Amino acid sequence: MREEQTLSLYDLTIHEVADLLRRREVSAVEVTRAVLDRIHQVERRVGAFVTVTEDLALEQARLADQRRAGGDATPLTGVPAIIKDVICTKGVRTTCSSRMLERFVPPYDATVVQRLQAAGFVMVGKSNMDEFAMGSSTENSAFFPTRNPWDLERVPGGSSGGSAAGVAAGEGFYALGSDTGGSIRQPASFCSITGLKPTYGRVSRYGLVAFASSLDQIGPMTKDVHDAALVLNAIAGADTWDATSLPTPVPDYTQALIPDLKGLRLGVPKEYFAEGVTPEVAGAIREAVRVLEGLGASVDWEVSLPSTRYALAVYYIIAPSEASANLARYDGVKYGFSAEAETMWEAMEQTRQHGFGPEVKRRIMLGTYALSAGYYDAYYLKAQKVRTLIRREFEEAFRRYDALVTPTAPTVPFKLGEKLEDPLAMYLSDVCTIPVNIAGIPGLSIPGGFADGLPIGLQIIGPALSEETLLRIGYAYQQATDWHTRRPTL
Ligand code: GLN
Repeated sequence: MREEQTLSLYDLTIHEVADLLRRREVSAVEVTRAVLDRIHQVERRVGAFVTVTEDLALEQARLADQRRAGGDATPLTGVPAIIKDVICTKGVRTTCSSRMLERFVPPYDATVVQRLQAAGFVMVGKSNMDEFAMGSSTENSAFFPTRNPWDLERVPGGSSGGSAAGVAAGEGFYALGSDTGGSIRQPASFCSITGLKPTYGRVSRYGLVAFASSLDQIGPMTKDVHDAALVLNAIAGADTWDATSLPTPVPDYTQALIPDLKGLRLGVPKEYFAEGVTPEVAGAIREAVRVLEGLGASVDWEVSLPSTRYALAVYYIIAPSEASANLARYDGVKYGFSAEAETMWEAMEQTRQHGFGPEVKRRIMLGTYALSAGYYDAYYLKAQKVRTLIRREFEEAFRRYDALVTPTAPTVPFKLGEKLEDPLAMYLSDVCTIPVNIAGIPGLSIPGGFADGLPIGLQIIGPALSEETLLRIGYAYQQATDWHTRRPTL
């Protein structure tokens, strides 16, 4: 009996393993060993991690067992997690999958890491990502691409591809990701897991290496909605170290998990089924909406959000502009990679030339251009105005609907290399997720079906601070469907 449980431990959800831990059927050390064994078994094929922190994990697991013995446990105590390598971890290198930070060891923990530590978590490693979170396939990692556990010839999505693939493959029970334009939700969709981008300001960004500060947000990547609520409980809330964090009290998100949708009004915006969305994705999402309707929600199938078509363009002005400012700090002087040269200017040039990969350079050039004198009004200022329009259009819609339901990504996972030569095609992977960041509102992606064995993600979008509604909808859907219980065969 015990043998059998141990063998499949890594497949469980947080709430399932927390039950076993609570009943003392397993110890945190056993759970952690099971996950570390799984990592040894599959990691060579998946490539989810930049760094595996085996010794640290076992030490934290022993502490978790002591803590539980002392009667001081949370549902996350002793449960192994993966942290995206854009989130600072004291004493553990944090690379952003960039040569620039390959040897950077932060002297402090991000607030989210401190909060997970306070909950008694176990960190098994830091996950691979697109360099500085710029990308949609994890192929922009300076180190190696991560592969999709559902089909190793395909990408896991990005930029939190290592986090998503790791959770799907059982190399951790959950992960933290970051989402600037879709980087939690799109890989969650591609790997058939649950991913939540919270409202801007709901989770502290202190210790998150900045990409585009007005869009970045940290969130949970889990095996189901119940787990997302547990992780959000631990990481959400005001933080004096992040002035943009919201003072609104944090509810117990698990209280929102009820299995019916009576009284909820849902809208299906037609712009999210436009060009680029494949028929199998559109079909699966419509099918999923019918399930939600069956659970008691009322559905308006004819919603229109006309500004949606400008969102991608707005994002590719605003995000690179902010990135060009944020990445100016990598000058070879303060920290990170530093090239040797005759003069200071040469050293700086060499540092940036060799430290950054091609996509990061492209973003810096785009942003610098959009912000330069003479172009500022035409690009950056205009993008900010359209950003306001997009935000207002959502506000307007949320007067009539509690949530909107859309595909997360327009396609199933694509093949490695397929979009590498064509940045625009790559950027289009995020058409459905980017508007949510632009408006600063929350978005949840949950498994919504498969086409030829490849995952399809369902996105649920709500107004600011509607995480409880989104989790309720996702939970009810997962009570009625079993997509989220399927695991890839590796
Ligand atoms: N794929 C988008 C980009 O490349 C979004 C990335 C993200 O959310 N970090 O910018």
